[in-house]
Amino acid sequence: MDKKSNCMWYEVCSIKEFIEEGRIDEKWEKEYCWGDSSKCVRKKMEEQGKYVPDNMMPDGTRDKSLEQ
Ligand code: SF4
Repeated sequence: MDKKSNCMWYEVCSIKEFIEEGRIDEKWEKEYCWGDSSKCVRKKMEEQGKYVPDNMMPDGTRDKSLEQ
């Protein structure tokens, strides 16, 4: 699979890190980072200069298992 991201935030995004650590499903990357990043809530918030919690998924939901 082509792992080239469509998103400029990819290299610094916590989603990438969590996937590399095996803590969240790769589906997020496939659907958003390598797919349609324009619908990513994290990306939209970054672009608006808003604080983006690490454990917020691209659809805006929070993954409580990542809180520690
Ligand atoms: S999760 Fe969203 S902000 Fe992060 S790299 Fe993927 S598309 Fe970009």
